Amino acid sequence: MKANCWYGKRDVQVVDVPEPDILNSRDAIVKVSSTAICGSDLHLYNGLVPTMEKGDILGHEFMGEVVETGSDVKKLRTGDRVVVAFPISCGSCFFCRRELFSLCENTNPNAWMAQKLFGHSPAGLYGYTHMLGGFAGGQAEYVRVPFADIGAIKIPEHLSDEQVLFLSDIFPTGYMAAENCNIQPGDTIAVWGCGPVGQFAMKSAFLLGAERVIGIDRFPYRMHIARKNTGAETINYESCDVYETLMDMTGGLGPDACIDAVGMEAHVPGMMGAYARAKQAMMLESDRPHALRQAIFACRKGGTVSIPGVYGGFDDKIPLGALMNKALTFKTGQTHVQHYFGPLLGRISDGDIDPSFIVTHRLPLEDAPKAFELFLNKQDDCLKVVLKPQ
Ligand code: NAD
Ligand code: ZN
Ligand code: ZN
Repeated sequence: MKANCWYGKRDVQVVDVPEPDILNSRDAIVKVSSTAICGSDLHLYNGLVPTMEKGDILGHEFMGEVVETGSDVKKLRTGDRVVVAFPISCGSCFFCRRELFSLCENTNPNAWMAQKLFGHSPAGLYGYTHMLGGFAGGQAEYVRVPFADIGAIKIPEHLSDEQVLFLSDIFPTGYMAAENCNIQPGDTIAVWGCGPVGQFAMKSAFLLGAERVIGIDRFPYRMHIARKNTGAETINYESCDVYETLMDMTGGLGPDACIDAVGMEAHVPGMMGAYARAKQAMMLESDRPHALRQAIFACRKGGTVSIPGVYGGFDDKIPLGALMNKALTFKTGQTHVQHYFGPLLGRISDGDIDPSFIVTHRLPLEDAPKAFELFLNKQDDCLKVVLKPQ
């Protein structure tokens, strides 16, 4: 089968690889109908996350048709149309029982590697490093889905692939980021990043009752999509001081909650940008937490900083003084996707949201290398690429 594989920094290639087999009785094999590239894939593409190996199949946002099931798969049948959650979860450990699915204890065979870096290991993820399990990803014609009854949700025929594909990751991710803000009537929520995750965080903040949402980015087309499709106001951080502008917009109070939907590769304007990049390249700092610093600094006293953006390791100059003295709450995590499957499929079916608004490009899987470049460089007003195996 064809699959999009990682070969090093800025090097992905669509190559022929063996089709996956059922390895365990709770596995299913899914024939992929649509798959997408996530901002998290860009961190791998840029070579910033350790323990990738040449030939690893990328991708953790995918859906398709069940073509084979192991003997202990109970809920799924051959022919079912499903979306698959990006964290692989057993459904019965301490964390899965509490619906903290991305923290599953049983699905990362390389947990020891993650433990070295984080103290404990999160769940195994599709197509996302050997430290997180070395599982083959979904930018491929077929994928093995372990614990398929837990990780896949059946989709009714009347919804299109593009309406439901993002249940695999970024819609629940934006939604959990907003839910983590504990939104109260009248609240103003600021969202750093108008990428796909930021867009869903903004839309979700309104769904959860925010009065006002402010998106921050520098790409006019992304800010335009946010204004048009989510109802947010936007500010361009290249043409204003973010802190001053947010204070002006909130009567000096600051946003009630701040969402960092940028993560480890924040663009840092000016000379500080060169410094941050050099430091990250020399491994003196894992991430460029520029958006996070601003979010902590701007958040109103007693507010919440919600962090869906991915961070990798150890960072400097996080304003802990501001965090402590302003009594802020931090909420974060890889998304507990399976917890949101039912409710968010319901939101789509009820017409509260049509997640397809973020799709700007549709390409065959063979064009994955071109798609990575488009998405990375924001060429041709790219916000989200859907790849289709032929
Ligand atoms: P993306 O790269 O398309 O979007 C990031 C956006 O942030 C871009 O529009 C960029 O212009 C903007 N940006 C960069 N620097 C900024 C700054 N200093 N201030 C404001 N905006 C800035 O990616 P995405 O798909 O939207 O993903 C965003 C983040 O969410 C990534 O770190 C990704 O890894 C993470 N993510 C986390 C989870 C999770 O489970 N927690 C799931 C999916 C994605
Ligand atoms: Zn992702
Ligand atoms: Zn579990």
